[in-house]
Amino acid sequence: MSPLHERLNAIREQVARACRRAGREPGSVRLIAVSKRKPASDIRAAYALGLRDFGENYVQELLSKQRELADLEDLRWHLIGHLQTNKARLIAPCVHAVHTIDDERLARELDRRLGHPDRKIEVFLQVNLAREAQKAGCDPEAVPALVEAITRLERLSLVGLMTIPPADAEPERTRAYFAELRELGLRQTPCLSRTSMGMSSDLELAVEEGATDVRVGSALFGERS
Ligand SMILES: *Cc1c(COP(=O)(O)O)cnc(C)c1O
Repeated sequence: MSPLHERLNAIREQVARACRRAGREPGSVRLIAVSKRKPASDIRAAYALGLRDFGENYVQELLSKQRELADLEDLRWHLIGHLQTNKARLIAPCVHAVHTIDDERLARELDRRLGHPDRKIEVFLQVNLAREAQKAGCDPEAVPALVEAITRLERLSLVGLMTIPPADAEPERTRAYFAELRELGLRQTPCLSRTSMGMSSDLELAVEEGATDVRVGSALFGERS
């Protein structure tokens, strides 16, 4: 078995364990393989092991890997890094989902740039729960108005909330942020039942707190140089 295959099995086992503890079905968790700064050949190898969802942080890097891997037609690209409004037109025609919507202007621009009239994409609203000055994401109080505004856009399908807790938080504090994000989503109209949360270091906590979309990079592909 390749090291990649072993790491994937270990992650699947972690997800399954966390699901058992939380009384959830492992099939309710979508694993998004975060391939930033890793070569397209790593993505191809992960695809061969059955993964279909891949996350990238930078627009240019996503587009160039997409060109290289154009033969993998059912591969789904997720933009998980901050998106500048002026790059929405580049990314809109190419991705399955954007996890980092945090203002109305960006959402409108993405909607407008989707290309084919029947095309829809999934979006997550990114929330900066800890109000970290350097971090993207909207304030928690801004969520209801943004949900309402994004829901009015016909071609964006708002599916859930996303967050990245402070990197230095204690595990129990991290768990509390995950629980808060889930509750915040469930309180919205329409109710947002999906949550994009959990990375290599806090994957199990996130799944225990209801994560439906986990974004895992280094635990799968190895440390980034
Ligand atoms: C890099 C990144 C990840 C993956 O991080 P790992 O710690 O390598 O699992 C997940 N989400 C976002 C937003 C990232 O930028």
